[in-house]
Amino acid sequence: MPARIPLTPLLIVFMLMLVASPGTAETRREHHERPKLVVGIMVDQMRYDFFYRFWDQYGEGGFRRLLNEGFSFANANLDYFPPYTGPGHASVYTGTVPASHGIIANNWYLRDEDRMTYVVADPEVEPVGADSDAGRMSPRWLLASTIADELILHSNQRSQAVAFSLKDRGSILAAGRLGKAFWFDSVSGRVISSSHYMDELPEWVHAFNDRDLVADLLAEPWETLLPLDEGYAASIEDRNPYEYRFSRTFPHDVPAMKAQQGRQVLQFNPAGDVFTASFARAAIEGAGLGQDEHTDLLAISFSSPDYVGHAYAPASVEVQDTYLRLDRELAAFLDYLDEEIGLDQVVIFLTADHGAAHNPRYVRDLGFPAEYYSRTRISEQLENWMEERYRANLLSSFSNNQVFLDHELMRTLQRDPAEVQADVARFMLNEVDGVVGAMTATTLENSEFTQGLRRRVQHGYHQQRSGDVTVWFRPQWLPEFMDGTGTTHASIYSYDNRVPLVFFGWDIPAGESGAPVGVADIAPTLAMIMNTPFPSNVTGRPLLDLIYGR
Ligand SMILES: [Zn+2]
Repeated sequence: MPARIPLTPLLIVFMLMLVASPGTAETRREHHERPKLVVGIMVDQMRYDFFYRFWDQYGEGGFRRLLNEGFSFANANLDYFPPYTGPGHASVYTGTVPASHGIIANNWYLRDEDRMTYVVADPEVEPVGADSDAGRMSPRWLLASTIADELILHSNQRSQAVAFSLKDRGSILAAGRLGKAFWFDSVSGRVISSSHYMDELPEWVHAFNDRDLVADLLAEPWETLLPLDEGYAASIEDRNPYEYRFSRTFPHDVPAMKAQQGRQVLQFNPAGDVFTASFARAAIEGAGLGQDEHTDLLAISFSSPDYVGHAYAPASVEVQDTYLRLDRELAAFLDYLDEEIGLDQVVIFLTADHGAAHNPRYVRDLGFPAEYYSRTRISEQLENWMEERYRANLLSSFSNNQVFLDHELMRTLQRDPAEVQADVARFMLNEVDGVVGAMTATTLENSEFTQGLRRRVQHGYHQQRSGDVTVWFRPQWLPEFMDGTGTTHASIYSYDNRVPLVFFGWDIPAGESGAPVGVADIAPTLAMIMNTPFPSNVTGRPLLDLIYGR
């Protein structure tokens, strides 16, 4: 019989502390236990600093709850270049970088066919759910398995994996080959898929489409969640010259925008996030996710923050309001998961596919050097120089910050590709405004860069798909974009590269780490939590030691 210890107030406090921190190493679950559901939440274009820039206006149940009760990595980076939605989703769900999974951009140049391809375009598949080319999409270009694929294989198909995003690439690159991907067709206003994934939409997706939520969501103007003169001191004036001109000030007349531009306006306001969260609930109920001992995966990507960010840029009231509303949507979704499945049975992670730059004209007006570069002008500059130097135009494409050379022509002219690459790199550095870095394919194939910006270039470089010379520009130099309004993400720098990464639920303890981690670390971490195999090409490392402190 153990000696009876009197319950002193101090002891009671100590016991309460144990109860209140279910994720400490002492109470970590048995290694063979698995969560019923893993929920991946991508917030397209979310910068890490958005957690804290809008902290005071967030409610208790959304972003703040994730950070207060979950485990946050404050120094998570993509760690590759260039940063776009396709590579972002592929890297998170395959646990590796573009150098290995092959998704080097959203669109890239195909040497063999002398044309650009879209990252999920597939003329071989049929649309499902609407007679629309938006359905001719598949993961054909993906050169790795995803955690969804591995979960399905490991469970002998008893697990399910459902992915949804307004964007096809935000869903397909998570679902991989064996999950089920759904996305939004802005022409029909319906959720669709392709014959890669299914012959028919499931009944529950038909039922979701029949609700015609789009019509309801686009019937209302977009007003600020908080009074405009109170809650938005973290953002610049609503009326400013840096925003895309279709609708600059609150309230945005969404019905009029819809009349002009159709249902795609759903993407350009926070209603798109309401739609996405509604579909996530429909998926949990319709597919019965998280209902049995076979771990399911729900991968959702909120795309509206990206469209809003592109149109209005990070400093805008529109971006802030989008995040305040997403925060409320997340809070409701967390409560929903708790009621339906129980948060102690669900692992949630939240991250982003990339960040974004400030609008160059905005920071320039404040005194920070910023500029636009023109890809067309740079191509012309290169071609003129090549004509002079080689008496031939060796340029096939300048895209995604990469110079693609014409290898056939180099063979005919008996030019050594390595020499031409080195020449081109020197020319770009010396003669093209704003270029501050250039690396040749030859260098990338013969060296290994273990840190810094050069590692980012190497991680983004795929031997078969990438160009002959990769260049990068000064900070805040952006490709020409929407007449100098809005913004984009195309750089090697921290504003595009640093993203949020939080794990929450299950037995994840509250905590924070400043260790440098990459988004490719997410998939192997989840694989270890689910006890599934790593995706085929994993190069990231599992973060369980950081999360559990052992
Ligand atoms: Zn974007």
